[in-house]
Amino acid sequence: MKILLMGPPGAGKGSQSEKLVRDFDLTSISTGEMFREANRNNEPLGVEAMKFINKGELVSDEITNEIVRKRLLKPDAERCFLLDGYPRTVEQAKALDEMLDEMKSKLTAVINIVVDKQAILERMVGRRVCKSCGSSYHLSFKPPKVNGQCDRCGGELYQREDDQLESVKNRLEIYESKTKPIIDYYAGRGILRNVNGMQSFSEVYEDIKKALGEVA
Ligand SMILES: [Zn+2]
Repeated sequence: MKILLMGPPGAGKGSQSEKLVRDFDLTSISTGEMFREANRNNEPLGVEAMKFINKGELVSDEITNEIVRKRLLKPDAERCFLLDGYPRTVEQAKALDEMLDEMKSKLTAVINIVVDKQAILERMVGRRVCKSCGSSYHLSFKPPKVNGQCDRCGGELYQREDDQLESVKNRLEIYESKTKPIIDYYAGRGILRNVNGMQSFSEVYEDIKKALGEVA
């Protein structure tokens, strides 16, 4: 299974992909997480990328394609993977097709989580992430067992800069203009499934599994 999980910022992609990765034993490829890790390790690419991410802007196609290409070439991405946060532009989608072609591989499913804008703004404000392991939580939808503390590793939870209001608005605008056209790009291929994101976490998850059963 080679899955692309799409949806606007705040659609719950992060939590859904965590569960999919665990249940289906997939290799998780999250560009956001890769950039953050590179930044924690003080790699120039990561430091540069975070300047854009923190403002709610897109990292350049060039840098993003490069980090994904390197990741896809690792052995654990050969059999199955779940891409989250990539591609973000039609150019990146085309680059991804080229990479997969070269690797004699292809996507098996593109899952698009559909949500409404106002709901997204409310969701983003409640999002919290673990400083140590990167696990994501939500104050209303997926609260940690102990307030402010990660269930998995006990790390401190915080609100990412790019989850703050101005940044969220900026990300939504960019999504509409740059990322949404990707859905049309994949539409003719028979592997795209829309999932209603305006349901509980587990209902969305069940719908994603159903959609994967249809195409994968
Ligand atoms: Zn943690």
